[in-house]
Amino acid sequence: MKLTKHVYLVGSGLQGIHLTDAYDCHVYLIDGGDELALIDTGAGMGVEQILQNIKDEGFHLDKLKYLLLTHGHADHSGGTKKLVEKTGIQVISSQLTAQYLENGDEESISLSFAKNAGFYPIDYVYEATPVDRIVKEGDIVTVGNLQLEVIETPGHSNDHLSYIMKTPESTYLFGGDLVFYEGKVATQFIPDCSVFDIGKSLIKLKDANIDCLLPGHDVFILKQGQSHINRAIDSIERLVIPSSIIY
Ligand SMILES: [Zn+2]
Repeated sequence: MKLTKHVYLVGSGLQGIHLTDAYDCHVYLIDGGDELALIDTGAGMGVEQILQNIKDEGFHLDKLKYLLLTHGHADHSGGTKKLVEKTGIQVISSQLTAQYLENGDEESISLSFAKNAGFYPIDYVYEATPVDRIVKEGDIVTVGNLQLEVIETPGHSNDHLSYIMKTPESTYLFGGDLVFYEGKVATQFIPDCSVFDIGKSLIKLKDANIDCLLPGHDVFILKQGQSHINRAIDSIERLVIPSSIIY
């Protein structure tokens, strides 16, 4: 589904528009002309459908070069192994996400908590996969004629990255599970979530002038995304924890 000149939604689960497998986060395709990139993979069961959606938009999978992960939670990175096997895509993540993914470390991504709470099938397995490139704050990922800047945004999880992409038309935030419509956040009672760090990460985006706020779940916003981010920052500055999309 084409969202803008450069971005398509190719995967989405129940906490979205249910385009692919129920457990998938939003999976975005970035069209940089000669090269394509994906933001996140979904949980893994929807990978074939995601690839079919990319083909149905008229793209050749040969151009699919980069997978930019926001964090290690299974609904965002669990499809990495399948995606690499099917496309040879280059995997890009934070140092911590790489550590979790390369070890199939279900404990560090709080998967047992999530399974017990019913967020995943009880027999779901987080498949270990190597990461090709580790990125940190300020690094640039080039996708054809587009560039994405890495912003370290821990809080929802301790390994969380966001990516800012500026085009002549719009400034995009691929925010993973950092911030959502109406300034909501994604707080959970799990060991790798820190409310204080969510606040500090949001404040980093105060002057980002985001137009397109493209989160990992729920509503995506194509204009004035910054106003939603600012609602969260306003709460934090009053020492109030923003509402959570998880309740
Ligand atoms: Zn998450």
